[in-house]
Amino acid sequence: MSSRTDLIEDLMGRFPHVPREAVIKEDLLRGGLAFDDSALTENEGGDVKPKSYFIFSFDHRTLPELGAAALRRPPEEIVLTGGPYELRRTVVSVRTNPDSPYRVKPDDDGRLKLFLDGRAIAEVGLPPMPDYYRHTLANGKSVMEVAPTIQWGYLIYLTAFRVCQYFGAKEECQYCDINHNWRQHKQAGRPYTGVKPVDEVLEALAIIDKYDTARASKAYTLTGGSITSKVDGLAEADFYGRYAQAIEERFPGRWIGKVVAQALPRADVQRFHDYGIRIYHPNYEVWDKRLFELYCPGKERYVGREEWHRRILDSAEVFGPRNVIPNFVAGVEMAAPHGFTSVDEAIDSTAEGLQYFMSRGITPRFTTWCPEPTTPLGRSNPQGAPLEYHIRLLEIYRATMEANGLSSPPGYGPAGPGRAVFSVSSFMDSLPAEPAATEG
Ligand code: SF4
Repeated sequence: MSSRTDLIEDLMGRFPHVPREAVIKEDLLRGGLAFDDSALTENEGGDVKPKSYFIFSFDHRTLPELGAAALRRPPEEIVLTGGPYELRRTVVSVRTNPDSPYRVKPDDDGRLKLFLDGRAIAEVGLPPMPDYYRHTLANGKSVMEVAPTIQWGYLIYLTAFRVCQYFGAKEECQYCDINHNWRQHKQAGRPYTGVKPVDEVLEALAIIDKYDTARASKAYTLTGGSITSKVDGLAEADFYGRYAQAIEERFPGRWIGKVVAQALPRADVQRFHDYGIRIYHPNYEVWDKRLFELYCPGKERYVGREEWHRRILDSAEVFGPRNVIPNFVAGVEMAAPHGFTSVDEAIDSTAEGLQYFMSRGITPRFTTWCPEPTTPLGRSNPQGAPLEYHIRLLEIYRATMEANGLSSPPGYGPAGPGRAVFSVSSFMDSLPAEPAATEG
């Protein structure tokens, strides 16, 4: 294979039923993209919505290595259209990699394009600065810091706790840079609140509610690091749940409430539901037993894989199986030195996990692994997983979903190529076009 262009065109040819948009999107998500200095934002003072670093860095370099992109942030997302592959509208989360063969820059006519191997392959649209980002809280904090939005404004991402109590090499998940990301923002002198006060979250949401006049924001996600002891005197269910309680009291039903948290015992899961959460993401991370034990040592030690899965099934009795949507990190199955060495094996293993949950009415979803450089798996696998793994995963995901009579999960906006807004994997771009699943 002589170039990245050859690679994507080979895969587009071999998997014609996977949308071309998804092939390019997966490649951008696994390997990142570079920005010409002229394509960067003016941070919160400009007309383009900047990258908020909403939980992980999702970059292929540390901030000090990003040069101009650390000072003038890249956009949160880009939207691709047209070009030689006639792309339908495709929203892609920005993961910066100065060495990527993909580059965003103006063409000779000054139009912003995505270039691959030096050839323009798509028009690039940038997210406009939302009105609500132009306002600050009374204490001067920005809405982008307290309540950033992603997925083209659909989802308010509330990382209430910016660090994880699984800490250090023996506990942190081996692909996760949440703790490093917190440190690097602190070192850069950026505002990056460790524990977000509830009243600040409410104040930021009030600004969004007031200025999001098109009502593009439809859901909020409460998340952050795992809590193995207490934060603010509260264990995990009550810590994250109190935000939902406050939000639902103040803005009843305005957004769909989601929480990404550990797989907790049933009584705690019930408390999430009682607080007003409607969708629960108890992420199972990677299906294979050996890899889970190696990659998620903290979760294995404190809970254990089998118990984790049991709790996911239990939570379906509280939320209803449609509303339990556990995530896995697509691609870590193939990370050296412990991962599968063939795409076939990796897909077989992932498919087994999909069938396990989907046969019970639970629809997992996935984010595409970004091999961040400060994580053990990112360090040893800077190229991420083979693109073919990601393309075949889209294929098996859709096939398993359809075989089990399921459709796209709620809380992700519309499905289908040209319609999806979910930006950190292309699973929604690869499903049949259908209206947004019943929400709220
Ligand atoms: S539980 Fe693992 S993936 Fe989640 S924040 Fe902690 S280290 Fe990261």
